[in-house]
Amino acid sequence: MKSKYIDLKNDNDYTKIKPAAESIKQGKLVLFPTETVYGIGANALDEKAVKDIFIAKGRAQDNPLIVHIANIEMINKLVKNIGNIELKLMETFWPGPLTIVLKKTPIIPKVITGGLDTVAIRMPSNIIARKLIEYSGCPIAAPSANISGKPSGTLVEDIIDELDGKVDYIIDSGKVDIGVESTVVRVVDDIVHILRPGKITPEDIQKLGFKVFIEKQILGEYNKNEKVLSPGIKYRHYAPSTKCILVYSKDEEKLVQKINENIQGKKAVVICKTGNMNKYNTDYKLDMGETLEEITNNIFTLLRKADKYNAEIIVVEGVQKDGLGLAIMNRLLRACSHEFIEC
Ligand code: AMP
Ligand code: MG
Repeated sequence: MKSKYIDLKNDNDYTKIKPAAESIKQGKLVLFPTETVYGIGANALDEKAVKDIFIAKGRAQDNPLIVHIANIEMINKLVKNIGNIELKLMETFWPGPLTIVLKKTPIIPKVITGGLDTVAIRMPSNIIARKLIEYSGCPIAAPSANISGKPSGTLVEDIIDELDGKVDYIIDSGKVDIGVESTVVRVVDDIVHILRPGKITPEDIQKLGFKVFIEKQILGEYNKNEKVLSPGIKYRHYAPSTKCILVYSKDEEKLVQKINENIQGKKAVVICKTGNMNKYNTDYKLDMGETLEEITNNIFTLLRKADKYNAEIIVVEGVQKDGLGLAIMNRLLRACSHEFIEC
């Protein structure tokens, strides 16, 4: 059966989402926007509903979900031992694209956390996400809206084919604001560990005077025997079906030359900055924008678009690895299964 559709692209009558909130209360799934990417949500306190999220996405059971709240009062039931650093992070960045891993209380079903004794919590700023949580009266567990392994959904058009019928409602509010998933952090011994980079950068957190540690798998390859703080790191993600490589260089001329060498004689799609659009010898070029914000906003939808050309290869221009560039490079390295050329 097709999912029911709620169109909020050009209107802000949020009461239209009340039937979807009712659906959450009844243990069903709802696809909804957040400021980062679209999510597939269910009542976080309903074990059966949460299991259905894993089934809908084909997600590994040990890859835990983020629990979304609408106000700070909701948190006390869900977690314990909130320290001063976590409090300061909440005060500074909530509501917004920061997820904090904390000790869970027994009320959180183990299926959400993949058996861990911690749970990841976020208070989104997106008004529809917040209203959905408020109207349904429960915290909402939600991973990114995509079949596991694929790029996350930033536009309903991109994901409707793979998720239609798997959720009760689809709430469409057009393209999301940010375009990559939240920054995930965990505080260990007063150090803020970045488990997944996002819009809130390591530099943003350092500005508060905290020590920050960037987990090495964020830009490096995951090695099977390694212990990881974030189970999501173990799994393939963001990947188009077409072979994809990443090329980066601080020298723009070298970058263009290296990409042209790699696409010679092939049906290739190049995803590049606006200023480089006319420099590549292929008919298939996709404009990722110029600023890091624009690139963040476009990258998932372009990876999906590039896949539609049935090309032999997709080549993506890399960006700087600091600031917001860290989140972009993390997603690109994973999209390319760590196949990259640095020149
Ligand atoms: P997604 O649902 O696609 O946004 O991915 C959620 C991310 O949060 C994954 O990378 C998980 O590994 C991470 N995550 C969720 N819960 C925890 C937790 N309790 N400890 C560490 N990482 C977590
Ligand atoms: Mg995801």
